[in-house]
Amino acid sequence: MIYLDHAAATPVSEKVLEAMRPYFLEDFFNPSAAYLPAKKVAAEYEAAKGVIAHAIGAKANDLVITAGATEANNLALGIVALDGSILYLATEHDSVRKTAERMGGEAINVLPSGVIDLDDLRAKITDDTMIISVALVNNELGTIQPLAEIAEIIRSVRMDRLKRGVKRPLYLHSDASQALNLLDVNVARLGVDMLTLNAAKVYGPKGVGALYVSHEVKLTPLTVGGGQERGLRSGTENVPGVIGFAAAITEAREHLNGNRKKYAKWRKILLDGLQEYELINRKHSLDNFLVLCYNGIDAERLIFLLEERGVYVATGAACAASKGVRSHVLKAIGLNDAQIAGSLRITLGETNTDDQIYEAAEAINEVVLIEKERIER
Ligand code: PLP
Repeated sequence: MIYLDHAAATPVSEKVLEAMRPYFLEDFFNPSAAYLPAKKVAAEYEAAKGVIAHAIGAKANDLVITAGATEANNLALGIVALDGSILYLATEHDSVRKTAERMGGEAINVLPSGVIDLDDLRAKITDDTMIISVALVNNELGTIQPLAEIAEIIRSVRMDRLKRGVKRPLYLHSDASQALNLLDVNVARLGVDMLTLNAAKVYGPKGVGALYVSHEVKLTPLTVGGGQERGLRSGTENVPGVIGFAAAITEAREHLNGNRKKYAKWRKILLDGLQEYELINRKHSLDNFLVLCYNGIDAERLIFLLEERGVYVATGAACAASKGVRSHVLKAIGLNDAQIAGSLRITLGETNTDDQIYEAAEAINEVVLIEKERIER
C-alpha cells in the first residue's frame, strides 16, 4: 500500500501507542475520583495538557480538551451566540464554515493562490464583528495563511473601537489542525485569541483535540455536566487520548526540520516525474500537500484505478468526498467545475518512503494515460 492521504488521517505512532497503553489498562481511574491512584492519573493528565500547551507557547490552563477539532471549532465560534457576528474564510473546514453559516456569518474571499484577500477582510469588518476565523493551514490545499498580518489588522480595529467607545470585543480564531507536522506553531507569534488543535493529524489518536483560549475570551460551555475542563467541556477526561496527544505533539516538534526537508524532496520528485498536470497549489503551501488538476479527466476514476494499484489519494476533504460534494475550497480559488472534477489531492506523510514516491509517480502517470486513451476512444 502507498498511502498518500495523510491530511485525512495519520496512523498512531508506536511511541504514542506505548505512552497511551498503561492508561487503558492499570491506570484507568477516573481523574475526578478521590483515592490516590486516581489523583495520580489526574496529575498525569494535567502534565500532558501542559506538554501540549507548552508546544504552542501556552499553559495547561489555557487549553480546553475536546473530542477532536470539530468540537474545538464549534466551541470557539459559540461565543458569538452571546453578542456579535462571525467572519470566516471561504475555504474553512466545514466544522467552521457550517457553524458560522448557521449563525449568519459572512465569508471572506481568498485570492486564486488560496491566501486570504486582506482587502476583503478589511472591508467586511463592522462594529458587529466579534470573531474572525481563519485556518492556519487549509486542509485541501495546504495553504498557509498570514495570521500575524490578520492579527495586526485586528489590533488596529480594536484601537479604533476603543477610541470610538465601541465595547464589542474582536477575537481571532484559527484552526491549526493541519499545521503541527511542519510549522512551529506559537500562539503569541500568530497573535491568535483561540487556536484549534487536532491530535488525529499528528500521528496521535482520533477524537482528541484542544482549543487554546486566551484569558480575555469568555466561552459558552459546549457540554454541561460534571464541570470538567473548567466547565466548558464536561465529560470524563479522555486520559489515554490526551497522554497520546502530548506524545504525538512532542514527536512532531522533534521532527519539524527533518519533515520539511523530506517532504520538499518528495514534492519535487513528484512534480518532476508526473506528466500533463496543472499544479493548483503552487505557492504559500505546506510541502506535504500537492493538488494536481488533470483537465478533462474525472479524478474519481483516477482514484479508483490508483486504488487497484494500492495507491491511496483523495479528491478533496475526506468528509466531502464521501458525500460526492464538489469542493467549496477549489471553487473559492476560482476553479471551474471541470477543473474541480479533475483535481487530485496528495498529502505526504510518515508512512511514505523514497521508493514509494517514485512508484506513486509511475502509477499516477499510468492511470492518467489509461483514462486519456479511454476518453479518446
Ligand atoms: N479542521 C481541519 C482543518 C481538518 O482538517 C479536520 C479534519 O479533517 C477537522 C477540522 C475536523 O477534525 P475532527 O474530524 O477530528 O473533528
